[in-house]
Formats: sequence, C-alpha cells, structure tokens
Amino acid sequence: MFDEPLPKQVDLRKLAGREAHFSAKLDISVMQRIAEAAVGENGFIDVDLHIGVDEYRDRYLKGSVHCEAEVICQRCLQPVSVVVDARIHLHVVWDEKQAQQLRGDIDPLIIGEDDLVDLNEVLEDELLLSFPLVSHHEDGECPGKHDYELPSEEASVEVVAEEKENPFSVLAKLKVNKE
Ligand SMILES: [Zn+2]
Repeated sequence: MFDEPLPKQVDLRKLAGREAHFSAKLDISVMQRIAEAAVGENGFIDVDLHIGVDEYRDRYLKGSVHCEAEVICQRCLQPVSVVVDARIHLHVVWDEKQAQQLRGDIDPLIIGEDDLVDLNEVLEDELLLSFPLVSHHEDGECPGKHDYELPSEEASVEVVAEEKENPFSVLAKLKVNKE
C-alpha cells in the first residue's frame, strides 16, 4: 500500500546534478516525530519532490508534502483528524555564510561538506513547521459530554443581556441626576 521510504543517505550534490523526482505515498512511521504524535492506523504522507539545479547553478529541493493523521484532541483527549500541507522550496548550502546570501524567500538547507542527507528527515522538519501547535475538534464537535464544555446557550444569552443592559442603566441614572 505504501511506497518505500525516501533514501536515507542522499548525496544532494550528486543527486541535484542528475535531476531527481520523488513521488511517494509513505507510511507515517517513516517520520518518527510525527508518528509519535499520531494515533490510530490511518496516517499517511504524500510526497512530491524535485531535486535539481536552477539557472543560478543553485541546488534546490522543490515540491510539497501532504500529511493526514489522527492526533489527540487537546480538549476531549479523543482522536481528531489533522491535514497538514507544506510547500518545499529549499536551496542546498554548505554553511551559514552561503545561507545568508540566498535570494528572496528561499530557505536554506544547510548540510556539512561531506554530510549525507536523510530526505525523510528533511521533509519531516518542513512538515513539522506547518503542524498546528495545538490540535482540537471544531467548537462544539468534541464527541461526548465533558465538564469543560462551553457555557450553555442560556448562560451566554444572559451575559449578553447584562452587557446590553448596564450601559443604558448607567446613562439613565446620569440623566436623572442632571435633571
Ligand atoms: Zn475533541
């Protein structure tokens, strides 16, 4: 059902020169940090990634990562579905100095001189940046009843009525005093 994980030890310098394209549907378990946050069996990650050299002779990674998974709702502690999309546009650089010279809104992927790169890890980093910090069901859509539910409609109507009433009653008093 799932494709093979992306190569774990990639020489980006060589790979970019040859131009590479990865299109894969991955089991969520290939991205360990995301897998740890996920519950249930239905998580998956879609990857579409081009690696090449652009007209400025910069090596780039470009594409998208799409993740669907279930995580724990922070309100009711039941599973809630999350869908996360990350656009990938990284340029390969070998140190901080090169990173600072990049044009526009391109993010650097800094790799050591001889370091091989785990593509799964690179994409996981990008995906994590797009993950919501806190996941929960939409308001009122947590399954079951819980103590921390929002106040009932009756209660919120009361509050609104009070707020509306008060300014006018204060004005009315002022008026009476002046007259
Ligand atoms: Zn919930």
